[in-house]
Amino acid sequence: MTQYGLPDEDPVDSPTADARAQPSEYETVAVPVLVIGAGAAGARTAIELADRGVESLVVGKRDHGDAHTTWAAGGINGALGSLDPEDDWTIHAADTLNEGHFLNDPVAVETVTKAMPDQLRELDDWGADFDRTDDGEINQRYFGAQSFRRTAFVGDRTGEAILDTLVSKAQSLGIPYRDNVMITDLLSDGDRVYGAVAVDLTDGEFVLFVADYVVVAAGGFSALYERHSSRDDENTADGPALAYEAGADLMDLEFVQFHPTGMVGDRYGEEWSGRLVTEAVRGEGGRLFNADGERFMERYSPDQMELDARDVVARAIAQEIREGRGTENEGVYLDVSHRDADYVRERLPSMVERFASLGVDITEDPMEVAPTAHYTMGGVDIDWTTGATRVDRLYVVGESAAGVHGANRLGGNSLAETVAMGTVVGEHLADRAPRSPTLPDGMAAYAERAMHALNELGDADGTVRPATLIADLRECMAQSAGIIRDEAGLRAGLSTLQNLHERTGDLRVEGDRTDQDFELAVDLSFMLTLAEGILRGALAREESRGAHYRTDFEAPSSDWDRNVLFRRGDTGMERDTRGVSAPSSEVQAALEAGYELDYHHLE
Ligand SMILES: Cc1cc2nc3c(=O)[nH]c(=O)nc-3n(C[C@H](O)[C@H](O)[C@H](O)COP(=O)(O)OP(=O)(O)OC[C@H]3O[C@@H](n4cnc5c(N)ncnc54)[C@H](O)[C@@H]3O)c2cc1C
Repeated sequence: MTQYGLPDEDPVDSPTADARAQPSEYETVAVPVLVIGAGAAGARTAIELADRGVESLVVGKRDHGDAHTTWAAGGINGALGSLDPEDDWTIHAADTLNEGHFLNDPVAVETVTKAMPDQLRELDDWGADFDRTDDGEINQRYFGAQSFRRTAFVGDRTGEAILDTLVSKAQSLGIPYRDNVMITDLLSDGDRVYGAVAVDLTDGEFVLFVADYVVVAAGGFSALYERHSSRDDENTADGPALAYEAGADLMDLEFVQFHPTGMVGDRYGEEWSGRLVTEAVRGEGGRLFNADGERFMERYSPDQMELDARDVVARAIAQEIREGRGTENEGVYLDVSHRDADYVRERLPSMVERFASLGVDITEDPMEVAPTAHYTMGGVDIDWTTGATRVDRLYVVGESAAGVHGANRLGGNSLAETVAMGTVVGEHLADRAPRSPTLPDGMAAYAERAMHALNELGDADGTVRPATLIADLRECMAQSAGIIRDEAGLRAGLSTLQNLHERTGDLRVEGDRTDQDFELAVDLSFMLTLAEGILRGALAREESRGAHYRTDFEAPSSDWDRNVLFRRGDTGMERDTRGVSAPSSEVQAALEAGYELDYHHLE
């Protein structure tokens, strides 16, 4: 949370904090492993640790079981081959690399895809209740840009079913959770992490977590955009920003996935703006039409049509709207009414229910949709064999991490990443035998200075509320670093960001630390950091690839077969790039075999 003036002295060597900096009181909790985030990634990590006899504490900003993961709808990928026996993990890996335009970390891709068939069976054994085929196998549906039916699902509430399953499993193992606690700072000297500072959002008290190891599983940052598919108060960049401030590198930030089909606010009400219409609608045969009644994907992708990759479909919709063929509400139509009504009700129950509550029967009428910021492929740079960052004892997992998805993500691969990598991190940490630690003196002083800065933030009595600055930040990101980008727009975005930084000097935070204003003020600091990274990354990447599209560099360039990295330096963000390594021979063979879905049998 350094944006608002936390002193930058070397935390370990600095003398005891001065009297002014002393917060009144705080609770201290020592734990071998602190897991920050109670979504699928955090839960799965803690389960693996507990299974191996290691104690951890899972901390989340919301109530127990209420993480962003519950919003995942369409499904989770794993090459079980239930319906398409030719499928296997190497083809899943090849599809993931193709969709990621080969910027993915091949180790990450293999780690996840190889683990997934067993991970799905395990979730099923633990009670996830996946949809079945007539033969009793785990059923699998089409999802965009995949060669085979590989997406397992629980109706269209897959994320909720998976998180419920993981939470029950965690409870059965006696894993402790702390709910409604917001981590604001990691305790780090840049080389090693020692714990974290937090605020208990129920009573406003400070908490000092002392930990031998810290795992960040705090989600992504798609809520940096005006229209986004996540909740307003989740995906606010906490995880990547915390790790970055602690000394970890950020990577691939410029790759923001815009899901083609978000609900249109002007039609359904602002509270629904950007909310996702699951890809499963297109997986089950949904068709896109512009306001002239034209099935426009025939022009953009005659073979794959609506099931082409998310970036292709999202750009096509954005283009239709830009060129005046959108609806009066700046959307297009998504129609699944040609399918049997009972089938639609069975396969897409939440969508049927949600639109019915808004007076629309999707078995009869189309939905109005437009692209929405949905997923952030970038995040913290980790070693995919362990989850380790460059900061000793700091690990990252789930949507906070970068690497599996490259320049674009296959739908169904992020839930896969959470459980596959949570298992790897838990297994690795258990081998390192974490123990209950004590805090070095200098770190206690650092923690107290952090609390002092939070005190000051809570007392800020200027004129601008945090929600106003967040709204302005979201508008800036939509305009400067949306689906279609160019140098002038990105530079304008950086200058707006500079202005937003200046306006934080006049912040007004009403209420106490249990009030929303305080939480938003902390979120704003995380969001400013990641917004800068997106803009700088997008400006540096002088090509178009996957989800990153620039009108001034329309083609991909082999010069940019590289990841863009940012590290916190003395004068701000320091950029570097790194070449991508080659996949293994097994995956290379699958790539060369050129598997492809026959999209026409979806018609
Ligand atoms: C609408 C929607 C539909 C989706 N559908 C699919 C799908 O069908 N298939 C698929 O594979 N993926 C899907 N995704 C993506 C997928 O849901 C996420 O990538 C995945 O759930 C992320 O899990 P996670 O555990 O990494 O993070 P999250 O589930 O976001 O959990 C983050 C946790 O961190 C906590 N946290 C955050 N900040 C702090 C802080 N400062 N202090 C303390 N705790 C903090 C939060 O409270 C939460 O507990 C979808 C996403 C959305 C938005």
